[in-house]
Amino acid sequence: MTEPEDLSEAQLYDAVERVIQQDYPNPSRSGCPDHSLLEKAAIAPGSLNAQENTLFVEHVPKCWPCFKELKHLRKAAQARAHPPE
Ligand SMILES: [Zn+2]
Repeated sequence: MTEPEDLSEAQLYDAVERVIQQDYPNPSRSGCPDHSLLEKAAIAPGSLNAQENTLFVEHVPKCWPCFKELKHLRKAAQARAHPPE
């Protein structure tokens, strides 16, 4: 079973992904936040404080490695929240 929201989120990721990968490859990972920030954003976005949230929204859409990591973390978080039967 596929939820419509999941589908549109996946499609959005796919489209955005290609642009970020091309425009912001950031191989040296300059300016990347702590891994724990990405984890928090993936698992409990509401728990970010204002400073973390700013860093997150300003950096991740312009950093391919972080974006990729976030996507992976979100998938893992969703799999934990809804374990396949
Ligand atoms: Zn980054």
